[in-house]
Amino acid sequence: MSYILETRDLHYIYPDGTHVLKGINFKVKEGEMVALLGPNGAGKSTLFLHFNGILKPTKGEVLIKGKPIKYNKEGLIKVRKTVGLVFQNPDDQIFAPTVLEDVAFGPLNLGLSKEEVERRVKEALKAVGMEGFEDKPPHHLSGGQKKRVAIAGILAMEPDIIVLDEPTAGLDPLGASQIMKLLYELNKQGKTIIISTHDVDLVPVYADRVYVMYNGQILKEGTVKEVFEDVESLRKAHLRLPRVAHLVEILNKKDNLNLKMGYTIGEVRRNILEYLKEKC
Ligand code: ADP
Repeated sequence: MSYILETRDLHYIYPDGTHVLKGINFKVKEGEMVALLGPNGAGKSTLFLHFNGILKPTKGEVLIKGKPIKYNKEGLIKVRKTVGLVFQNPDDQIFAPTVLEDVAFGPLNLGLSKEEVERRVKEALKAVGMEGFEDKPPHHLSGGQKKRVAIAGILAMEPDIIVLDEPTAGLDPLGASQIMKLLYELNKQGKTIIISTHDVDLVPVYADRVYVMYNGQILKEGTVKEVFEDVESLRKAHLRLPRVAHLVEILNKKDNLNLKMGYTIGEVRRNILEYLKEKC
């Protein structure tokens, strides 16, 4: 089996001696949408910084399309064309005086023609729904809009893999669900998407596969169902069940129903309707 992104026994120790990643084996197939779940401090951001070569492993390796990252200038340019990383805080990513200049920055640095840069910027802003904001200074935008601009900046590089560190952090519920829908659309268009989050309510709606990380290690990996059925690993990682799954638990335990478990509203709704049909 070949993976578009893979880490093998990845360890990372910060210069102050903090051993953050302790043997991470993380595998993503082309076209997947994978979520990395874990509490604050688990090591999610540190792991993501390895995916496009910003950090170099203390031990182990990162492979992109089956080939280990080379940490020379050429190798790093190559990996950053393939893997786009969206930071948790858009203020760490957006720095140009206007939205247009910001989104154009990456493609300009690739040495592309003016026409090609214009095409990419236009398409990227359209994809994230930020057309018409070209001349705005980014610091006049809302949190959700800034996040969109940061994503547009990455899209304009046309990477195959988009990695987003806590894409819904700091957004209101509408902003968060808009960003997740955008990522879902990008995934349907063929982009491989990797997100980190501790939002267990959003994950099952969108992710094909989930990794659970705690204290620098992967505790569990599997489909949404497999991961949420492993209540012990979730508890260890200080995570909870999605609220809708918790409701099913309560209905079954306290109200003596016999509902099939589900992890999204759609799934639980179908299970309730099925249950009612059988009962009536
Ligand atoms: P997460 O993204 O899951 O919240 P991080 O990767 O940000 O986790 O942090 C994991 C651990 O690494 C934390 O204990 C954090 O304090 C530590 N850490 C992060 N950055 C540094 C750094 N530059 N130097 C030393 N320790 C760091």
